[in-house]
Amino acid sequence: MGEKQKVKRNDWKIAEKTTSGTSMKQVAATALILLLSLFLLPLLIFRGSGGPDEAAQPTGTLPLDHTVVSPDPTADSGRTVRVQMGDGEVLSLPLDKYLWRVVAAEMPASFEPAALEAQTVAARTYTASKMGRTVENHPDADVCTDINCCQAYITPEEAAANWGDKAEEYTAKIAAAVAATDHMVILYQGEPIQAVFFSSAAGRTVDAVEVWGNDVPYLAGVDSPEGEDDVPNYHSQVTVSLEEFKSAFLAAYPQADLSGAPESWFGVPETNSAGGVASVIVGGVVVKGSELRTLFSLRSANFTVAAGSEGITFSVTGYGHGVGMSQYGANTLAKEGKGYQEILKWYYTGVEIGPMP
Ligand SMILES: [Zn+2]
Repeated sequence: MGEKQKVKRNDWKIAEKTTSGTSMKQVAATALILLLSLFLLPLLIFRGSGGPDEAAQPTGTLPLDHTVVSPDPTADSGRTVRVQMGDGEVLSLPLDKYLWRVVAAEMPASFEPAALEAQTVAARTYTASKMGRTVENHPDADVCTDINCCQAYITPEEAAANWGDKAEEYTAKIAAAVAATDHMVILYQGEPIQAVFFSSAAGRTVDAVEVWGNDVPYLAGVDSPEGEDDVPNYHSQVTVSLEEFKSAFLAAYPQADLSGAPESWFGVPETNSAGGVASVIVGGVVVKGSELRTLFSLRSANFTVAAGSEGITFSVTGYGHGVGMSQYGANTLAKEGKGYQEILKWYYTGVEIGPMP
């Protein structure tokens, strides 16, 4: 759109300069037609060559003499990612194809387009931070498909099978999110950030320093708007018997004393800035909320504990580690009309959205 407006503004200036005399008007008209054809012809050829997504490209990045034949090396389609599969095989994929597979695996395709776009940019940013860098776990690949190391991954065939009769719609929807954000990443002081994300927050995201101990300026805690109406299983419960609790907890913390009544095992939790459990004393031992989360497979570290003779019950809110972008929060913001850049800037403090270095 921006390019068309630019052309019109130029024409206007030229028309103004050549208004003296009728013959000059004719000359000007001829010049104008010539000029228009010069500008518009390559534009038309270019617009006709691609998909419906070029309109979403940021203006200024597409020169008018862009040729259809050679792929743009700065575009996702012109970059190659080496992806190590579960069986160790390394696939070389164009970045846009790889991102499609990540987004299809990481976020429900039913989400709003702007949320899918935010997720795509987060995934591209993660990938950018790994490309051209030696990763210890997979020295021959930029990324892998193990979610404990890199990002989730699903093939188009597997995704289509999961989506059933929505397959065609969702396939196109994710492709559109990738195309609409082509080569854009999240930058802090000019470098791609650690674009961490999680499923849903309990009102606020958690400052990185509170979860991982290292202060990351752009991973500060912020409000997150999703609630029980937006998120399936927003509130969840886990109950374990006293015997189960004892054996699991004592295996991890053998120094703990769980000899008294279960009501006496738990101290008053220290809460983090998001209202989650930073730490709690259990059987005389200080335990992080995130450690209890792992030990008893809680959906998040935002929980309360009820202890009694019938067992230990954790009542949990939200899902995930709580740092960075909340996916359901992103979807709620998108429903409120926010674009992907606004969503990303909401969750990652002080960042810019810009071309991949
Ligand atoms: Zn990996």
